[in-house]
Amino acid sequence: MSEQHIPTMMYARMDKRTSSVHPSTQPLFWRHRRTAPDIRFAGANPTIPIYSGIHVGPASVPGLNDSRNLIERTEGVLWAAIGIVETLERHHGNSDNVLDSMTADERLKNILLSTKLGPVTPYYGVVNGICECGKPKTEKHKPGKHPRSGGWQGKNATTDHATITEWCRRYPQSNFAIIAGVQSVVLDLDIRPGKNGVAEMEQIEAAAGKQLPRTVTALTGSGGKHLYFAVPPGLNSLQKPKNTNGIDFQRNRQGVIVPGSLHESGNYYNFAPGLSPADIELADLPDWLLSLMRKDAATTRTATTGLNDIGKLFDELLKIGPPPGSLPPGRLRPDEIVMRKMKTVPMRKYPDNRSHSDSHWAWTLARNCCHHWDQYLRIWKESPIRKLPDTKCGRASYEASILEKAFLDQKQQWKNPGKRPVEDTPNPPLAKYMRNLEARTETPRSPVSIAVVQLNYKRPDLDDNGIARMLNATGQFEKPITREHVKHIRYRYRHLWRTG
Ligand SMILES: [Zn+2]
Repeated sequence: MSEQHIPTMMYARMDKRTSSVHPSTQPLFWRHRRTAPDIRFAGANPTIPIYSGIHVGPASVPGLNDSRNLIERTEGVLWAAIGIVETLERHHGNSDNVLDSMTADERLKNILLSTKLGPVTPYYGVVNGICECGKPKTEKHKPGKHPRSGGWQGKNATTDHATITEWCRRYPQSNFAIIAGVQSVVLDLDIRPGKNGVAEMEQIEAAAGKQLPRTVTALTGSGGKHLYFAVPPGLNSLQKPKNTNGIDFQRNRQGVIVPGSLHESGNYYNFAPGLSPADIELADLPDWLLSLMRKDAATTRTATTGLNDIGKLFDELLKIGPPPGSLPPGRLRPDEIVMRKMKTVPMRKYPDNRSHSDSHWAWTLARNCCHHWDQYLRIWKESPIRKLPDTKCGRASYEASILEKAFLDQKQQWKNPGKRPVEDTPNPPLAKYMRNLEARTETPRSPVSIAVVQLNYKRPDLDDNGIARMLNATGQFEKPITREHVKHIRYRYRHLWRTG
């Protein structure tokens, strides 16, 4: 090994270990601040996990010289934490209605009031910042935000005060939610890191030059707001206001946590002063806002994802047509042929992933139907994959999304194969063969080829069969010439071929 290699490496390593850190190599954080930023968590919020467990301060950043990576990573987290704290402080400064205590009676009163907003269902509560169900907080599991029983569709929901009072007695820590879309719909203005629905709504109001009407309003424990409105007509054609990130529109039997419940931050959901159902009626969504919430034609297809009626799914999908951007249909094959082709396609190609397998099947079906949307839907509707014992099919939103994605994702080029550049052929040997074929200028040499080409020149009106029959009739060939034979020669010498 040459000497030049090892020393370089060693010097590099030694240099790192022994030298002091040059100012320009110090992370930004240390260049601009001699001390760590002063992070005080005013009204410390123990449930925001990102800064619990991070010890902040110069001493907590060990080995500045050794591991700059670690510092930079720590630095990133610090700034993220500072951002959250600032957001929270700004918010807490604004809002003087965050409650960190509520008596059992007040809780019950609020929950019973909420029955004017829709049927109420019990949710798991939050005890010491942890979900009553006992599971740890994860991306999917949000403490205190899922039903105790009865599932998401609110099968266990009621407006009966006696039942709710009994629930409160039986589950004293329980949270409660109303089912949206029955008696009211909800604009959910969320405040979370990276989201601020309250500010977004203010921007929308400013842009429209109008203000939302006073309506029943709940303050969520995290600083957001729930604005309740009367159920508008044409609910299914509405979505959250366009170009918003922190605003949700709850309308389709989603559960919306009601006042009297405890947020994981330790604050109670509470009606805004003077804006509880006891004080004020539900307002209608104003027209200027509805116009921002109406789905246009291009986004109407998301209506199918909210569709719960599997029977209507196929009519609906047929009506709105193939997803925009999908390929135009090719030659129509009879249903029987498509079905025969589908018999060889495995229904569980990915045994561990049902939806993946379903997608694959739908994808192949789209190809075999040559991208005929109506045929695709028709055959899918009758397909055995929908009757598998472990299937997720039967849920309209699931099938709609699988069908549309598979159809849109289908890139098979059955249309105008001649127009596709040979280089685009996904099969390299085939591409080479085609290229050779293109470049071919040879003249026929075998007696059969010569005879076939000559006859075609004289009689371009004859088809393969006709040529074969005429040549056989001359009796000058030992072996009979078949139609396939002629076809092969026609293809091989197509640069000489005349069409009649
Ligand atoms: Zn839970």
